[in-house]
Amino acid sequence: MLAFQFSRSSLAKFQPLNRLFSQKPVTQDKQTKPYRNLQSPTRTANCTPEAFPTKCDVAIIGGGGMGSSTAYFLKKKAGRDLNVVVVERDNAYSKASTPLSAGCLRQQFTVQENVLMSRFGAQFLHSFKSEIGDEVDPNFKTYGNLYLVNEKNAEKLAQGVALQSQLGVKSELLTNDQLKKKFPWINTDGIGLAAFGCVDEGWFDPWALLTGLRKKAQALGAVYIDGEVVDFEFKSKGGAEYDAVDKIVVRTAQNEQKTIQFDKCVLSAGAFSGELAKKARIGTGTGLLSTPLPVEPRKRYIYVINSQGENAPPPTAPLVLDTSQLYFRREGANFITSRSPSSDQEPPIDNLDVDLDYFETNIWPYLAHRIPAFESLKVVGSWAGYYDYNTFDQNGVIGKHPAYDNFYIAAGFSGHGIQKVPAVGRGMAELIVDGGFKNIDLSLFRFERLIEKRPVKEMAIA
Ligand SMILES: Cc1cc2nc3c(=O)[nH]c(=O)nc-3n(C[C@H](O)[C@H](O)[C@H](O)COP(=O)(O)OP(=O)(O)OC[C@H]3O[C@@H](n4cnc5c(N)ncnc54)[C@H](O)[C@@H]3O)c2cc1C
Repeated sequence: MLAFQFSRSSLAKFQPLNRLFSQKPVTQDKQTKPYRNLQSPTRTANCTPEAFPTKCDVAIIGGGGMGSSTAYFLKKKAGRDLNVVVVERDNAYSKASTPLSAGCLRQQFTVQENVLMSRFGAQFLHSFKSEIGDEVDPNFKTYGNLYLVNEKNAEKLAQGVALQSQLGVKSELLTNDQLKKKFPWINTDGIGLAAFGCVDEGWFDPWALLTGLRKKAQALGAVYIDGEVVDFEFKSKGGAEYDAVDKIVVRTAQNEQKTIQFDKCVLSAGAFSGELAKKARIGTGTGLLSTPLPVEPRKRYIYVINSQGENAPPPTAPLVLDTSQLYFRREGANFITSRSPSSDQEPPIDNLDVDLDYFETNIWPYLAHRIPAFESLKVVGSWAGYYDYNTFDQNGVIGKHPAYDNFYIAAGFSGHGIQKVPAVGRGMAELIVDGGFKNIDLSLFRFERLIEKRPVKEMAIA
């Protein structure tokens, strides 16, 4: 296990800081895997080549959080009558965003739909046992989220909290003095205001959520196929402007190419959805098809640290989102922390190696400033994953593509998707089975906003 032990202040006196991380960035296999047990979900006999379906009602591309949630809610809603096939290219989910996520859930967003989606996420996690079963436990830790802003952003934070409380969220605003009293382990310099979401906020195990949803979807009859969707086939619609998307072309685990004809298709391939959308002519065609799906992989690091200092945040400390945009939270005896790079710092995406220098220069100084106990710490592990990054407005694209009657998208959640997995899956099922959203109206996130160049203005995302 990777472990560096040091104290910023003491070492800075005696040696250049860069010597602390003089090792080359470690490769993924030497890094700590996310803290969960990464066993593969049980596969069904449906994955055998003999059982390969040639037709289905709904084909879902990608069986990560969004795809599996959609499969589960579709089967829950429509039952046996609806034949659902999920095509997943990596059943170990080694590069999928879902299991590599930090698993944080907060209701502190500034757009109503984002608040409501997280609220349903919390409700779903609370009722996980009755809804999904007790084979896996998402271990929802409701220690809260503490959102810190500087003076300049104080008013916006207060406005956000006002909206959230109208929607039933229990969060309280804390002045600098109140913050100091309540959380004496925080250095409050530069903090104008804080919001503490103290009910139904915290973090959970995303792997358990995925495993539970997938297994339950399978138990209800959804078929998971081991394979990669590599293309689409189209059929002409007479004189219509756009052909219909008719089949997915799947490269199977046995390296054969097969097709599945569908009535409806859901693109939920996470960070790789933008690339695959091009095969469905989205972004390569004319008219409504000239606008691409702006979703691409962006590498993000998570470091596992152990505080060596005094007055460290206690085991029940909330997740803290700092003014510097870094966040940290408890993970057992350790903490995990991350901070997104600026646009000129975006790391290459051809591998999931972790850059330890990034921690030294872009995280540690801010962490130690905010939490003096982190002046002295051990980096005991790290991992990287891909944000399913929507370059347009960093919010999910949810709904039917306007050029097609039967092609749906759930992708691009950009670092705040895991908490929305239950709400998006339920919404997609409503759209497909009922023809419209029933619980939360998610039409704000439709593809048309990309064409109309109307971004969703969510202020509470880094
Ligand atoms: C480091 C990190 C930290 C994060 N922290 C948080 C957090 O704290 N809170 C939060 O809300 N969100 C967080 N997120 C974001 C969240 O994890 C994602 O938004 C969410 O998991 C996206 O789910 P998904 O199903 O769309 O994507 P994925 O989980 O990536 O699933 C997509 C699936 O599609 C499959 N696939 C891709 N292409 C094909 C193909 N051609 N054929 C077949 N299958 C294919 C992939 O193998 C994958 O399994 C974080 C993400 C990362 C990387």
